[in-house]
Amino acid sequence: MLTLIRNAHVFAPRALGRRDVLLAGERIMAVEESISLAGQEITEIDARNHWLLPGFVDALTHPCGGGGEGGFGNRTGELDALDFIRGGVTTPVGALGTDSIARNLETLFGQTMKLRTEGLSALMYSGSYRVPLTTLTGDIARDLVLVAPVIGAGEIAIADHRGSHPSNHELRRLASDIALGGTLSGKGGVLLLHLGDGSGGLNAIEEVLASSELPRRLLFPTHVNRQARLLDQAISHMRAGGFADITVSTTPEFVEAGEVTALDALHHAIHSGAPSSQVSFSSDAGGSLPLYREGELAGLQAAPANSLLCLMQEAIATHGEPPVDVLAAMTINPANALGLVKHGRIAAGANASLLLLSQGDGQLKDVFCKGKRLMQAGEISLPD
Ligand code: ZN
Repeated sequence: MLTLIRNAHVFAPRALGRRDVLLAGERIMAVEESISLAGQEITEIDARNHWLLPGFVDALTHPCGGGGEGGFGNRTGELDALDFIRGGVTTPVGALGTDSIARNLETLFGQTMKLRTEGLSALMYSGSYRVPLTTLTGDIARDLVLVAPVIGAGEIAIADHRGSHPSNHELRRLASDIALGGTLSGKGGVLLLHLGDGSGGLNAIEEVLASSELPRRLLFPTHVNRQARLLDQAISHMRAGGFADITVSTTPEFVEAGEVTALDALHHAIHSGAPSSQVSFSSDAGGSLPLYREGELAGLQAAPANSLLCLMQEAIATHGEPPVDVLAAMTINPANALGLVKHGRIAAGANASLLLLSQGDGQLKDVFCKGKRLMQAGEISLPD
C-alpha cells in the first residue's frame, strides 16, 4: 500500500523544488527532500524530469451532457472517466445545467457514482438553473446531509435569459438552507451561481449578503469572465473575501462578443488586487457552447474535459514551467471554495491525487486518484 514517488519537481501548488512524496493508501503520508524506507515493501517511481502537480479540481462539469437549448437535437453527450483522466481532472464536480426536465438529478447521481467506482473523486451539485430548486430528497439541506456526493446547489442561473430570474429573497433562502445543510453535514456547502449577460451581474450576491449573516464564501459565481464588466464585479467580490470562477472553455465568437480569456482574466484580477487565492478555473466540460446570432441559436458544440490541462500546457509553453497562480486556480483554490480541504494540494494528510507531467512539453504521463494509478506512462487503466 506504500508508493514512493522520487525526485519529482513538486508544485504543491507552491513550487517546492525536488522532493520525494510518499503515498499510503488514499493519502499522502510525507513530502520530504529525501525519504528512505529500508526493509519496507514499497512501489518506487522515479519521477526525475517530471513535474508533480495536484490532481485538478474542476468546479463545474456536466457529466450527463448539456445543451438542449435549441431542442433535443442540440443535446450534448455524456462524459466518462476516461475524458476526465485524460484531462488530469481527479475531482470533477457535476451539475445538470439548463435542462432539469429531460435530464434529472437521479441520473446525475448515478453518473457521479459511476465515476467514483472508476476511481475518481467525483462530486455533484443538487438543483439546476431553476428556482424553486429540484432536489433528490425534496430539500437541499437534506440532500447535503443525506447524499454523500452532494456538496451544494448549482449551477443556479442569475442574470440570464435561460434562468428563472430568482428574487433576492429566494436566493437568500436557498443560501441559508445550503448553509444549514453544509453545517450539519460538515461539508461547508456552496451555492454555485451561473452568471449570464443580464445587466444585474453580481448585484444579487451583494444584496443577499447585505440582508443576511451568510458568509461570502457560500456564494460562488461562475462564468465571471463572460464580460469585462462582470469580471470587475467579481474582482470586488474576491477582494472582499469571496471566491469567483473563470470558465476556461471558449469559442472565438465568445471572445469576439466580449468574453475575457481565462489567462487574461486571471492576470487582470490579480493585477487589480484580487487575492490570487480566490480565483478558480473550471472547464464547463460537457456543457454546450451555444452560438447566438441576433438572439437566435445558430449552432452548438460541447466544452471539452481537458480544458484545464490544455490551459496549463499553454501557460507552461509561455513560462517554461507550471505557473503557480495558474495551477492554484485549478487545484487548491477551487478546493477551498468548495470546502474540500483534502483536495487540490500536495501535503501530508491530503488525498493522494496527483499528476505527473513531462518537464518541457507538459504532456500528462501519470494520474493518481486517491492513491490509485489511473494513468501510467500515458496509458489509462481503470480499477476492476
Ligand atoms: Zn453555466
